[in-house]
Amino acid sequence: MKKSVYLDHAATTNTKKEVLDEMLPYFVEEYGNPSSIHSYGRQAKKAIDKAREKVARALNARFEEIFFTGGGTEADNWAIKGVALANQNKGKHIITSAIEHHAVLFTCEYLEKRGFEVTYLPVDSYGLVDPKEVEKAIRPDTSLISIMFANNEIGTIQPIKEIGKIAKEKGVYFHTDAVQAIGQVDIDVNDMNIDLLSLSGHKIYGPKGIGALYVRKGTRLTPLLHGGTQERNRRAGTENIPGIIGLGKAVEIAYENMEKNNQHLLRLRDRLIEGIMERIEDVTLNGHPTSRLPGNVNMSFRYIEGESLLLSLDMKGIAASSGSACTSGSLDPSHVLLAIGLSHETAHGSLRMTLGDDNTDEDIDYVLETLPPIVKRLREMSPLFVQEKGGYQYV
Ligand SMILES: *Cc1c(COP(=O)(O)O)cnc(C)c1O
Repeated sequence: MKKSVYLDHAATTNTKKEVLDEMLPYFVEEYGNPSSIHSYGRQAKKAIDKAREKVARALNARFEEIFFTGGGTEADNWAIKGVALANQNKGKHIITSAIEHHAVLFTCEYLEKRGFEVTYLPVDSYGLVDPKEVEKAIRPDTSLISIMFANNEIGTIQPIKEIGKIAKEKGVYFHTDAVQAIGQVDIDVNDMNIDLLSLSGHKIYGPKGIGALYVRKGTRLTPLLHGGTQERNRRAGTENIPGIIGLGKAVEIAYENMEKNNQHLLRLRDRLIEGIMERIEDVTLNGHPTSRLPGNVNMSFRYIEGESLLLSLDMKGIAASSGSACTSGSLDPSHVLLAIGLSHETAHGSLRMTLGDDNTDEDIDYVLETLPPIVKRLREMSPLFVQEKGGYQYV
């Protein structure tokens, strides 16, 4: 029987059965519109408020500071465009990093074309932003700092609390894309001085097409969507009730089980990294060795293409990723791997394997058994490898 091992949890996750079970009644039976005054509407309103309470509790935020969106991308767009537009009287300068998700980077580029100025901070070889660089980049006309909590490609976790402290001292709004961090890292928006935070359902075993933006009370933020008075007049459109219920449940489960899940992920992650290092030469780990998401493995294999590796693994039933899912299909190497200083060649030879709660020791055994012969075969076909290493007897 062909084995099937999913190692692409940073791209998306399965919706958990408990999450789906909570969502289902809201399609057929409890289908009211929360804006309606009658009992159907009131039921729906009560249900989304319960979900809002769950998300707020997970972040140590207030109930009225959570706004549901159509996913992580919308939350990022809203935070950045919303703060930029609402605070133009203060200035039109934004600070971000070179390794953000495209939902942040392309939003910043959009604003640059419309008269805003953006500073893209570099990162070190582990993918860390230096808080001192953030401080130095702040100008009198800076309205927003947007630095992701944890990177989707290399898993590096940023010094968010230190950046938040600087932002607060300087009176600049601080947004963080926490789509990858949520449920795997303790987050306290007050302790960390975060003003806006994006999260998404489908990266944490919830449904796709739902997310949320935390907005600190008093933050000046222009709406992205105009229309009805939903979400306290800040995000128009009839609410995605089943999605919201699913997101609330997914966040709740993630934090209830975080310690146990993280221990499991860490153990499998380190087995995988060490196992590959033992079995294959000329491999490097990308990202930070310790300040790293518990389920993230990102490695560069010299002499070969990540894409070829990916396809060969797929034929053996192993689903991984090279670069990020959003850029696969294009031949440009990942902007994140280039930003940590990899050459184009090394970046092209990279493979991301992101573990999830359902992965087992057997999955790791299977990868450790399957990957080395694939690498060996691909290297033997590489002219550079043959030239430098003389071929065989080598993995
Ligand atoms: C997946 C992801 C997003 C986009 O979220 P969607 O819900 O898919 O729109 C944004 N930022 C990061 C870091 C992500 O990993």
